[in-house]
Amino acid sequence: MAKPKETPMMKQYNEIKAQYPDAFLFYRLGDFYELFNDDAVLGSQLLELTLTQRNKNSAEPIPMAGVPHHAAQNYIDILVDKGYKVAVVEQMENPAEAEGMVKREVVQLVTPGTRMRTSADAAKENNYLVSLSMTPAGGFGLAYTDLSTGEVKATTVTATGGVLNEISRLETKEIVTNATLPDDLMANLTSLGILVSHQDEEAANAETSYLTQQLTVPEQKEAADVLLAYLFATQKRSLDHLQMASSYEIAQYLKLDRNSRANLELTVNLRTQQRSGTLLWLLDNTKTAMGGRALKQWLEQPLLDRETIEQRYDKIGELLKDFFSRAALQETLKSVYDLERLAGRVAYGTANGRDLLQLRNSLRQVPDIMVTLGDLDPAVFGDLLRRIDPFSDIEKLISTAIAEEPPISVTDGGVIRAGYNTRLDDYRSVMKNGKQWLAELEAKERSETGISSLKIGFNKVFGYYIEVTKANIDKLDPDRYTRKQTLVNAERFITPELKDREQMILEAETKSSDLEYQLFTEVREQIKNNITRIQKLAATLAELDVLQSLATVAEDYNFTRPELTDKQRLVIKDGRHPVVEKVLGHQSYVANDVFMDEDETIMLITGPNMSGKSTYMRQLALTVVMAQTGSYVPASEAELPIFDQIFTRIGAADDLISGNSTFMVEMSEANTAIQNATKRSLILFDELGRGTATYDGMALAQAIIEHVHNNTKAKTLFSTHYHELTALSDELPNLRNVHVGATEENGELVFSHKVLTGPADQSYGINVAKLAGLPDSLIDRAADILANLEAQDVSLEATAPTRPAKLAEPVATYQASVAEPEPEVVAAEPADTQLDLFAVGPEIDP
Ligand code: ADP
Repeated sequence: MAKPKETPMMKQYNEIKAQYPDAFLFYRLGDFYELFNDDAVLGSQLLELTLTQRNKNSAEPIPMAGVPHHAAQNYIDILVDKGYKVAVVEQMENPAEAEGMVKREVVQLVTPGTRMRTSADAAKENNYLVSLSMTPAGGFGLAYTDLSTGEVKATTVTATGGVLNEISRLETKEIVTNATLPDDLMANLTSLGILVSHQDEEAANAETSYLTQQLTVPEQKEAADVLLAYLFATQKRSLDHLQMASSYEIAQYLKLDRNSRANLELTVNLRTQQRSGTLLWLLDNTKTAMGGRALKQWLEQPLLDRETIEQRYDKIGELLKDFFSRAALQETLKSVYDLERLAGRVAYGTANGRDLLQLRNSLRQVPDIMVTLGDLDPAVFGDLLRRIDPFSDIEKLISTAIAEEPPISVTDGGVIRAGYNTRLDDYRSVMKNGKQWLAELEAKERSETGISSLKIGFNKVFGYYIEVTKANIDKLDPDRYTRKQTLVNAERFITPELKDREQMILEAETKSSDLEYQLFTEVREQIKNNITRIQKLAATLAELDVLQSLATVAEDYNFTRPELTDKQRLVIKDGRHPVVEKVLGHQSYVANDVFMDEDETIMLITGPNMSGKSTYMRQLALTVVMAQTGSYVPASEAELPIFDQIFTRIGAADDLISGNSTFMVEMSEANTAIQNATKRSLILFDELGRGTATYDGMALAQAIIEHVHNNTKAKTLFSTHYHELTALSDELPNLRNVHVGATEENGELVFSHKVLTGPADQSYGINVAKLAGLPDSLIDRAADILANLEAQDVSLEATAPTRPAKLAEPVATYQASVAEPEPEVVAAEPADTQLDLFAVGPEIDP
C-alpha cells in the first residue's frame, strides 16, 4: 500500500521532531500543544490524556494527544519530573498573517537539569545540572550550575567514585557530557535514575568563553564549556545572570562519601527522603530562600581551614551577644525575597512587574541591615558590612517606574507608574477622559451651531464623526466641517479638532500597552546591567541569614563554641545528638561525654541493642560536621581537631539498587575507610561483621580493629556485639572500652543511655527481644538455651584474647594526659558504676 502523502503540517512536525528525537515535542497548534505518534501514545499514559487520532479515515491515522496551552506548564513539569525532556514548539508568526504553513520553532528544551521550579517548596533547594569532561588519563573535569541562580563551578575529580560522591552531593538529575563515559560510571548513573545528555563542546561563543576564562585547568574549562553550550542550546535565550565560572577543589572540604552523607542524614532523612528529621532541618532557621540554600551548601561542604571556620564562630558569637540586633536582622531578612532567582528571572526576561517590586522591596531592607550591622563589632562584621552595596539607584528606578500593584502580565498595561513617562500619562488621561471630552465637544458644537439634534458618533470606517440632519446643514461653516458620508436624513462630518482627538484616543488605546511594555523592558534591561551587583548582594545576605540562623539555633538548643586545636585530641562534654534531642525533648535526652586522647585511636563500644550505641557514634560525627561547618555544637564544652574525612558504616542501608548484599556493602564501606582514612580522619563502624557467621564476623572485626589501630590510626568508634573483642584492650594500648549502661530491674531491661568506662558485662539480647514483645514461652526457651551454651563455655579463646581482669586502664591514660590524676578513684570504681567518662576525671574548664 502506498504511503499516504504527508500533509505539510506533519512534514513540518517530522522535520522538527527529527532534531529532538529524545524529547517530547509539544507542538503548538492554536490554543493547544499537540503530541503526535509515539509521543502521543506514551504522553497520554504519563499525563492521563485522551488519545485521539489525526486523519482518522486515512489508511494510517496519526495518534494524537493535546494539552491546552494555558495548562502546558503543569504537564511539562510532570514529564520533566519523570526524567524526560520536553521541546516546546511555538508558532513564530501570526497564523492570520502567515502565507502557507505557519513558521514554527523550538523555543526551549526543558530538561530535568535546566528546569526552573518556581513552587514554594523548591525555594530552598537548588537544581543542579552537572557536566563531565574526560582527561586522557581517565580523570574527569566536573562543572555544575543552577540555572535559576546562575552560579557556575568547576573542579577536577580523579576517579568514578569521586564523581559519584560529587553528583550525590549536588543531587543532580541530569548530566551532560562531550565524552563517552566509562561503563561502570554509566551503570551507576542509570541506577540512580540520572539522565545523561550529550553535548559537543562547541566552538565557544563570545558569551561562554568569557564566562569560563578564569578556569585554568583544561578539563575544568572543557567541562564548563560543555555545560554552557548545553544551556544555550536548550534555553535559546540570553543568560546574562550566569556568573563567571570559578574553580574549587574537593580537597578544600571535609570529605564525606555518598554513604556517609546518607547515613548521617545531613540533609535527607533516610526513611522518608524528606528534609524533616535531618541536621539541616534542625539548623534551618533561615528567613530567606537563598539563606536556606546557602545553609544547605555549607552543610554539604564543611571546611578544613581553621581561620575561615573560626570567623564563622566569631560572627555567631557576636550575634549571640546582641539579641536585639539579631532580632532586627531576622525581621528585615523576612522581607527580603529570593534575590538570586529574581536576578535570574530578570536576565531570563521572565521577570514581571511584581518581581521587580519584590526586588525593590528587598532592596529597601538593605539600609536597615547596614544600620544593624553597624551596631555590631566592626572587627567581626566589618568585612561583611563593607561588601553590602546599598543599591539606592535601582531601588529608586523601580519605585519611580513600576506601579504599586502591577498585574502578572507585562503586555496588557498597568505596569508603569503614573508620572514616569509623559506620553504614557497623556495616553492614559486621553483614555480616561476621552468619553467626557466627546460629550463636552458635542455640547459645545450644539451651542455654537445652534443645532440641538447634533450628535457625535463612531463607526469603524471613518472613526469619530459629527452627525447633522439634512435640515440643519446650512447652519454649518463649510470651511470647518468636512463631509464624509451622506445618509437618507443626515450627513456626517469631521473637523480637524475631532480628528486630532480621535487619533489620540485610538492611539492611546492601542499604543499605551505597547509603550508600557517597552518602558518596562527598558527598566528590566537597566536592572539586567546590574545583575552582578544583585548577585553579590544576594550572596552576602544569604551568608548573613545562615549566620543568624546558626546563632539562633545555638541559643535555642544550648550549643557551645568548639575549640579547634592542632592536637588529635577529642574532648566533648555533655554531648548530644541534636536531632534526637530535639525529637525526644531536652529533658529526656541523656548527654554523654567523648574523650579520646592524642594517640588513642579506637573506642570500642559495647552495650545491648537499643541502648544508644549508634546514636552516640552519630552524635560525634554530627558534632564534627557542625563544628567544621562553622556552627556551634551540641555540648557544654568541645575541643576538636580538624578532621579531613569522615567514614561511616552505620545501620543497614542496603545498596538495593546495585544488588549488593548487606555484608558486601559492609565490607566495601569498611574497605573504603581503611584504604583512604588518615590519622586525621574519623571512622564510625557500627556492628561491623554482623552480616556473616559469628566467627567470620568476629575475626574480621578484630582484624579490622587491629589494622586501624596499628596502621591507619584514624580516630575510630567501633560498636560491637562481640564481647570477646573487649579483651583487645589488653593488647592494643590505644584502644579503650566503653559501654552504654543498662540494668535489669525485676526482669525488665532499663536503659540509662549513659556511656560508661569499660566493657559491658552482658548483651541482654534476650531482654531486648522481650521488650520487642516476643511470646513469653519463646523468651523462656531462649533463656534455657543460653544457660546451656554458657555452661558449655562456648567462648572464643582461640580467636580472641580472654577478658581482662582490670578494666579501668584507658581512663588512667586520659588522666595522665591531662596531668591531674585521681588514680585511686579510678582503680576503686568497678566498670559498671553509673559514672560518665568525665566524672572520674578532672574538670576540663573550671
Ligand atoms: P543501638 O545502636 O545501641 O542499638 P540506638 O543508638 O539506635 O541504639 O538507640 C536506640 C534508641 O534509644 C534511639 O532511637 C533513641 O530514641 C534512644 N536513645 C539513644 N541514645 C539516647 C540518649 N543519649 N538519650 C536518650 N535516648 C537515647
